[in-house]
Amino acid sequence: MKIYEKAPAKINLLLDVLRKRDDGYHEVEMIMTMVDLADRLEMEELPRDTIIISSQVGYIPLDEKNLAFQAARLIKERYNVSKGVYIHLDKKIPVAAGLAGGSSDAAATLRGLNKLWGLGISTEELSELGSELGSDVPFCVKGGTAIARGRGEKLEMIAAPPQCWVVLAKPPINVSTADVYGRLRANALSFHPSIAGMKAALDNGSFYDICARLGNVLETVTLELYPEVRQLKESMLKLGADGVLMSGSGPTVFGLVSKEAKLARIYNGLRGFCKEVYVVRMLT
Ligand code: ATP
Repeated sequence: MKIYEKAPAKINLLLDVLRKRDDGYHEVEMIMTMVDLADRLEMEELPRDTIIISSQVGYIPLDEKNLAFQAARLIKERYNVSKGVYIHLDKKIPVAAGLAGGSSDAAATLRGLNKLWGLGISTEELSELGSELGSDVPFCVKGGTAIARGRGEKLEMIAAPPQCWVVLAKPPINVSTADVYGRLRANALSFHPSIAGMKAALDNGSFYDICARLGNVLETVTLELYPEVRQLKESMLKLGADGVLMSGSGPTVFGLVSKEAKLARIYNGLRGFCKEVYVVRMLT
């Protein structure tokens, strides 16, 4: 038997950091949602007690460093499964881009193996299990639109954004999430985007209010380090996107667009200087 699971990319409509905690993590408040750009996972049971990962791309680890491997190992250990699994990752989400590709693969692995092995684990339990793999994994297990607090693992599901287009552009630079958080001066931030304001905009389904309230405090670090990310934001706005923000720690910038007629101009304008541009729908 084979199981197929989609692992969608996440974007942050809002990302705030409240403070650095004594355990080294940052206390965050984020609003996350998913877009229709997804990795596809194929999972097949193996008679031998082993985990094998493959992918069509050559630039991600396929050993125990892969988050899908770690998810399979965790579920096997925790639920005493002695069967093995072969997992193929058809990567579509750009890697190390701020779109939680690895976390979403881990979440899809947990969901898929729960089905493949008939374990009957609840979504809540799977989400808790996911928190052992990474801060974004619990959200990726559940999907939808959520406020995430704590390290990112405490979730409150909220209203999804209204249907719109999402243009994603990834400049050709590698940004380390750990490095960005390491450089952030959380206690010296002069501005905190409003979670309550964005939640109200989502509740009201007000697209232009959502665009106006986009905010990500990690831009204070990444945009300083990489001026090309700031330029990309400015270009996307000039080309006609209704709201623009960097996702996660970057470097991907996304633009929300309500009218399909604007897409060709934005896409073609960006493609002039950025190779990786995607036009997708918001997952609502
Ligand atoms: P986040 O926003 O959660 O920090 P990201 O989108 O910036 O995530 P990922 O695409 O998840 O970053 O990849 C970060 C690193 O994780 C990569 O450099 C890669 O080596 C490693 N990695 C482990 N497993 C995977 C996976 N299944 N897919 C992609 N990268 C993976």
